[in-house]
Amino acid sequence: MARHQNYIAGRWVPPAGGEYYETHNPACPSQALGEFPRSGPPDVDTALASAQNAREIWDQNQAPQRAAILLRFSQLLLDSKDELARIITLEQGKALCESTGEVTRAAAEAAFAAGEAVRLSGQTFPSERPGFSCYTVLQPVGVVAAITPWNFPVVSPVRKIAPALACGNTVILKPASLTPWSATFITSLLEKAGLPPGALNLLIGSGECGERLISDTRVRGISFTGSTAVGIRIAEKVAARMTKIQLELGGKNPAIVFQCDDLDTAAQEIVAAAFLCSGQRCTALSRVIVQASQADQLREHLLTHLAKIRAGNGLDPQTTMGPLVSREQMEIVAGYVRKGLEEDAKLVAGGKRLTENPETDGYFFAPTLFDHVSPQSALAREEIFGPVLPMIRVKDAQEAFEVANSTRYGLAASLFTENLHLINQFIQKVESGMVHVNHGTASQAHIPFGGVKDSGQGAFSIGPTVKDAFTNVKTVYIKC
Ligand code: NDP
Repeated sequence: MARHQNYIAGRWVPPAGGEYYETHNPACPSQALGEFPRSGPPDVDTALASAQNAREIWDQNQAPQRAAILLRFSQLLLDSKDELARIITLEQGKALCESTGEVTRAAAEAAFAAGEAVRLSGQTFPSERPGFSCYTVLQPVGVVAAITPWNFPVVSPVRKIAPALACGNTVILKPASLTPWSATFITSLLEKAGLPPGALNLLIGSGECGERLISDTRVRGISFTGSTAVGIRIAEKVAARMTKIQLELGGKNPAIVFQCDDLDTAAQEIVAAAFLCSGQRCTALSRVIVQASQADQLREHLLTHLAKIRAGNGLDPQTTMGPLVSREQMEIVAGYVRKGLEEDAKLVAGGKRLTENPETDGYFFAPTLFDHVSPQSALAREEIFGPVLPMIRVKDAQEAFEVANSTRYGLAASLFTENLHLINQFIQKVESGMVHVNHGTASQAHIPFGGVKDSGQGAFSIGPTVKDAFTNVKTVYIKC
């Protein structure tokens, strides 16, 4: 079994304590995939020193040189698409077609970020006083800590690393413990692309290691994606030192179906957006809010599309839905199904795991649909992060919007309707960072992405807003 290392100051190095842990294939947990460093405080320290030392060298690389490295990286991602997609599927579980899409998407985001390096322009201003030139410049924030989750082991790190580097920062990446292999691969591609030593440092370790990293005053920017609980903890920890922070957190994304003429297409879009990645996406549609008079019909269409899902090992080309990422995640999902039954929701499909012995046969869970779910219930309000879709019936549009806004989250929302007035109301009233009309929750490689309420804080990622996350504005007055 391969033993992987941290990447610090341009070298692949073992953890100071010499300890490693194994990762496993969630479709076949007895299959160990590799050994990865269990980094401790001395490794965090070395990574920080490396990132700090490299600041000047990297910032002195002119923007077009930084762009060229990131463009090479984007091309290397495309060149190794098949190999990297296989790694994603092995360690995360998702279907191979989804993993391939993830790598392609990461390459597109890296290419966009490369362009941002040469678009780091400030603004000029006319002065109220004669003889003055007034303008702003964008400067790197310094050392950036990028902490990423397991659901998108390639796109999530790339979404942070590429724009942070483009803006002239040095980066320490702490990937999720469950999916460090993808992070190792990405780092090796950046090394091949010609990144100077120390500009990117890979630190593999636990959440504790992540906490130690973000607590260090040498870190001047933090970009975190993961649970709202950890996001809030990070925000509290760093509040006293005013570190720049970008948090992408959980969601409970509604699909409102109201006065909709094409329920079949709506159901198809909803099922795709709810069950991709086995529902383990922050932007997954995770509740359907439907006009009572259309609910029975919509339910039939949802069941038709649900029946087309093929759960199985992600490496099998027939598979459209892989396993859950871990035993823990499977227990969380099963717990929500139990809660739903206790709260008298009506289970209409799935509701159980698909293997007798998950430890040998994988953490597979059936695509699950509940109807007649109370808007106050845990199923309707909490992020489940699994293949469970609750349907909530409402009497009018006003109630639909109230229910949509009744959770702590505000990441993404969809509306399926032909009613233009409703579309306008939806765009205005729904508390959500991203809204979609007549399609499921999706994103593109150059368009801002983020949430409001407990779904996020700081500048949106992807697109031109990344500059707000990874640069500081400096205002210049010159008297000539
Ligand atoms: P976490 O939020 O715990 O983990 C995300 C990342 O943060 C991982 O790299 C993790 O490391 C790290 N981390 C954990 N604790 C700390 C800390 N105190 N300080 C700094 N970094 C830390 O997500 P989980 O993987 O535990 O998933 C739990 C739930 O979070 C899911 O069920 C889901 O509801 C939600 N989630 C949401 C995601 C999203 O995209 N919005 C993504 C993933 C999860 P390590 O992996 O080593 O623990």
